[in-house]
Amino acid sequence: MRYIIVTGGVLSGLGKGVTTASIAKILQSMRYKVTVIKIDPYLNVDAGTMSPFEHGEVFVLHDGGEVDLDLGNYERFLNVDLTRDHNITTGKIYKRVIEKERRGDYLGKTVQPIPHLTDEIKSEIRIVGENYDFTVIEVGGTVGDIESMPFLEAGRQLSWEEDVVFVHVTLVPSLDVVGEQKTKPTQHSVKKLMETGISPHMIVCRSKTTLLEKTKRKIALFCNVSEDHVISNHDVDDIYTVPLLLNEQKIGEKIIDKFGLRRKPNLERWRSIISKKYETEVTLAMIGKYMDLHDSYISIGEALRHCSYYTGAHVNIKWLESESIKKEDLEDVDGILVPGGFGVRGTEEKIRAITYAREKKIPFLGICLGFQLATIEYARSIGLKNANSMEFAETDEPVIDLLPEQKKIKNMGGTMRLGAYKIILDEKSTVYSLYKSKEIYERHRHRYEVNPEYIDLLTKNGVRFTGKSEDGRMEVLELEDYPFFIGTQYHPEFTSRVERPSPVFMGLVKAMGRKKS
Ligand code: GLN
Repeated sequence: MRYIIVTGGVLSGLGKGVTTASIAKILQSMRYKVTVIKIDPYLNVDAGTMSPFEHGEVFVLHDGGEVDLDLGNYERFLNVDLTRDHNITTGKIYKRVIEKERRGDYLGKTVQPIPHLTDEIKSEIRIVGENYDFTVIEVGGTVGDIESMPFLEAGRQLSWEEDVVFVHVTLVPSLDVVGEQKTKPTQHSVKKLMETGISPHMIVCRSKTTLLEKTKRKIALFCNVSEDHVISNHDVDDIYTVPLLLNEQKIGEKIIDKFGLRRKPNLERWRSIISKKYETEVTLAMIGKYMDLHDSYISIGEALRHCSYYTGAHVNIKWLESESIKKEDLEDVDGILVPGGFGVRGTEEKIRAITYAREKKIPFLGICLGFQLATIEYARSIGLKNANSMEFAETDEPVIDLLPEQKKIKNMGGTMRLGAYKIILDEKSTVYSLYKSKEIYERHRHRYEVNPEYIDLLTKNGVRFTGKSEDGRMEVLELEDYPFFIGTQYHPEFTSRVERPSPVFMGLVKAMGRKKS
């Protein structure tokens, strides 16, 4: 088994996830079997209970795992389905170790970070890595953090037991005054890493502009790597060009050389998809409440970008904070999207925006909460004035109600209706024409649903539920005679990939283009 461990220095938010995904993509293009693991040193067992305000989007996997948004990047780059085992957190590791201790598995031993935590970490990594040629492991956080120590130690130990290459990602800032690329933060972070007993084989430098030869020389000299193992990962407009940028510097060949292997990457298909030139521009209003941190909706932004590659329509996203939205904000847009969300705040404003979309026949996509609000909006328009969701109000018209199985649930973590479920599509519907398939699998994350008691009434009055789960849940809403008005209880953004854009988003982007022309 071969492992590539990616650590980060200087500061967080360097784009280590994209670097990791890009390395994995290059190896995959060499026809190796490649997978990725994300280590998150926080104490949460998974990302499910974390607020998007703090941590960005919670990504949902096929198996229902609620994971760090970096796993979304891995799936989008590699075009594979990962499982919850590909996200290891401190909470998950401690939980396993403590459960074992309680069962008596340690046979009276004193249970300690080393070897018990580190053994558990290595064992989790090996379980995932077993069936692959390469496993790329991204260690979240920054070297020097107390919380990532056990993981670095496990990585160090692993390098004695398996073939391991260490890649360290750092920042090379340039001071505006002199414009000089500064290597000191990199030097310090490599020293910090070396204190843990790990010497990086390769240093990937994040910088504003291409890393200069003299900067590379200096880093090589001070950080114990050869000059051609200092890689420039300077800022680019489009994250999907990063594999190409790193590949130009032969990062993949240099990594596999460390394992004694030789093969050539082939990123031609990738290059041809992402170098599509934009011919038109459309504007989409995104109405949410986590707008300060665009990472909260990262998968939606990426899904739109994937569609741009295939339609040639560049999508400008107009980020609108639901609570402060004004009518004029929607006047010049080609489409309106109401994404998923939780809690009552901003819902009435979103409903008003949906009314606007419906009345003006502006292409509309409602996702999860957006689907539920579209149902409520329509119910109100046909006379159910108090229509609402039980999530927001004790209403006498609970058009959206708690899923029956949720009524008994007390714990918040991992208890929603999560992950992929089969959905049967109506053959005479817009969604069917988009997916071109009667059965689809899409991912979910919700506690509420369309109340079955209102389905007849809504259907008689013009709502078409054109997708249903096998157990009869409403999954897709469409309206008759609208250019594009779709709500999905599921999250189509989680399955959109560069090499396989989401059919629903493709439909939206095309409809926006038609509206514009
Ligand atoms: N809050 C809603 C529910 O729990 C919608 C969730 C979502 O948009 N992900 O059903």
